[in-house]
Amino acid sequence: MGNTRDDFNSATKELLANRVGRRCSNPACRKLTCGANSNPEKVTNIGVAAHICAAAQGGPRYDASMTPEERKSFENGIWLCQSCSKLIDTDITRYPKELLQSWKQLAEQTAILEVETTSATPAFEKDKELVQFYLECFDRPAFQDDIYQEGRMEDFDKAIEDTLIALNTGVLRTRDGSILKQADGKSSIQNSLWREKLYTIADMLTAIRRRLKIAKKEKAYSTYGTGEDVAYCFYDRELAEWFNSTREEILKILSSICKEAGLRELHFRKRRYRW
Ligand SMILES: [Zn+2]
Repeated sequence: MGNTRDDFNSATKELLANRVGRRCSNPACRKLTCGANSNPEKVTNIGVAAHICAAAQGGPRYDASMTPEERKSFENGIWLCQSCSKLIDTDITRYPKELLQSWKQLAEQTAILEVETTSATPAFEKDKELVQFYLECFDRPAFQDDIYQEGRMEDFDKAIEDTLIALNTGVLRTRDGSILKQADGKSSIQNSLWREKLYTIADMLTAIRRRLKIAKKEKAYSTYGTGEDVAYCFYDRELAEWFNSTREEILKILSSICKEAGLRELHFRKRRYRW
C-alpha cells in the first residue's frame, strides 16, 4: 500500500474547470487558464485541478479520515492556475481547507453571474471595486480608537454617519460636507452574501448612532480635557465595551469580504490602555 495517490479522473477535472469558467479560483488572481496555442490543433492550459485535502499521505491538508473516493471526488478539488496551486501548498496555515472551499464557492457563483450578466465588466471586478471604496471609508480613526479616546463625540457620530451614507449611497463626504468621492451604494453589490453582510454592517452602524444618542441624553459619560485632547469616562463600562466590540465586529465582517475579494483587511486596533 503505502503512498498511493487519489488523483481526479478527467471528467472531474473538466467539471472543476468548467464550473469556474476556466479561471483561477483564487479571488486575488482570477487568471484565465487556457487559450490558443500557436499549434492550431493545441490548447495552452495553465490550469490545475488541485486537491483541497492532499491526494496522498504527507501532502498538504491531508485528511486520513477521508476515503479514497472522497479524496478524488469533485468536492475535494479546486481549479487554480499553476502558480496559485503552488501557493496554496506552501503555507497550509494561511490556506486552510475552509478558505479554499470558500474560494471555490465564490468562483462558481462569480462564473454563473458572469454568464448571466450582459455587462462588459465581470460582476466580481465591479463588486471588488465597490468593496475597495467602502474599505477606504472605514479606514478612519472612528474605526480605530478606543471609545474613551474618540475625541469629540459629535465628531465620532459624524464620522459614523458619513460612513453609513457612503455605504448606502456611494457618496463619501469630507468634514466640511463637500463630496470627496462617488461610487455606488451597497445595493449595487451583485454577490448576495457580500450584500447581506454590508446590510448587516449598516444596521450595526445605525445601532451605534442610536445608542450614542441615548447615552448622551442620559449623560452616560463625562468629558475630560478640551479640544483634541478630550477623553471620555463611561459610567457604564459594559456600554463602553459595547461601542468597542461592535466596531471590532463590523471590521471583522468587512474583512471577511475583503479576504474573499483579495483586498487588504482592516482590524480594530488593540486598546492602548484601559481604566
Ligand atoms: Zn491563480
